[in-house]
Amino acid sequence: MNIPYNKLYLTGKEMLYLKEALEGGNIAGDGVFDARVCDFLEDRLSGTSVRSVTSGTHALELAVALAKICPGDEVIMPSYTFPSTANAVLLRGGIPVFCDVEEETLCMDLEDVEKRITGKTKMLMPVHYGGVCCPMDRLVDLARDRGLVVVEDAAQALGSTYKEKPLGTWGEMGCFSFHGTKNLVSGEGGAISIRKPNEDLLEKAEIYRQKGTNRIQFIKGEVNQYTWVGEGSSYAPSELLMAVLNAQLEEMDQIHKRRSSIYHGYQQQISPMVDRGLLRGMSTIPEDVTSNYHNFYVLFHDGSTRDRVRQRLQEQGIGAVIHFVPLHVSPMGAKLGYAPEDLPVTRMAGECLLRLPLFTAMTMEEMMQVSKALLEVLEHEYDR
Ligand SMILES: *Cc1c(COP(=O)(O)O)cnc(C)c1O
Repeated sequence: MNIPYNKLYLTGKEMLYLKEALEGGNIAGDGVFDARVCDFLEDRLSGTSVRSVTSGTHALELAVALAKICPGDEVIMPSYTFPSTANAVLLRGGIPVFCDVEEETLCMDLEDVEKRITGKTKMLMPVHYGGVCCPMDRLVDLARDRGLVVVEDAAQALGSTYKEKPLGTWGEMGCFSFHGTKNLVSGEGGAISIRKPNEDLLEKAEIYRQKGTNRIQFIKGEVNQYTWVGEGSSYAPSELLMAVLNAQLEEMDQIHKRRSSIYHGYQQQISPMVDRGLLRGMSTIPEDVTSNYHNFYVLFHDGSTRDRVRQRLQEQGIGAVIHFVPLHVSPMGAKLGYAPEDLPVTRMAGECLLRLPLFTAMTMEEMMQVSKALLEVLEHEYDR
């Protein structure tokens, strides 16, 4: 068997658009493919303006800069995330404050968030793990009551909704990734959504991503030359990347439909293993959420079983992988003063979670092979 964890899916239009971009002569940023990508995303993320950036990481850095996080400001986020969420805050001198997650979704536990709010708290950063989320209505109410900004790390969540409202449109800003491991890819790439009305933030974002210049106004023909007008960096992705992304976005709904079939197949195969007590749990989609089916995971009763099962599956050619050494458990987390036991659910997920192969072109037969292999290994493990 050779079933990798992830496999690049091409829609067939990538080469065509790449050729068009190359022959068009402009392969820097903010060209025709970029405009198409942003139009598409603004249509899907209604009520926001969307600008492309070079990565999900840069979307987060841009959002934290636009939120005016200053040295000493505290930002509450789950520890169960990728380092980019915390680095974006650290780079501005802010302090990432890690909260625990709910076992059902592995997303922010709002009761724990509330306990961590202090006079220095400025912002909440929910992370939509695997394309699902915590109760976003309650989260934005909490933020409003306490005067906090909400920036969503929606890197894994393009296409998901909560109560029919897209993830990435609930907070002031949303951050998306098109990294090669996500559902829709440009290789490296990202986008930021900024909730309307947003004139001030949008103008700052446009300046920031174009090296602190008003180049965007120049491209639109509003000024004759562009110049340095503010703080900034270089976050505009090449037209080559946007050409590839354009091909992917055109098939977004079909891609999510394929992933949905695999996800629901796993759900059906694996829930009896949970019922029999062979597993502690598995991916769950809460009632008010429609998912983009970014991943499917199982939770084991303990870390050593997880590691042994992972090894057995890998020996059979199945690319099952762990996820996220929780940030508070990492060397950097220890430096920030955390101990593993501080966030018990997060610690459990870090030790007990295994993601099963799930990629767009995966067949139902491959899904069955993985499920059967998992069942066999588990029955052997527990001698049942
Ligand atoms: C992928 C990911 C990122 C980083 O996105 P890049 O495009 O790889 O920079 C940030 N946060 C989360 C939760 C992610 O899954």
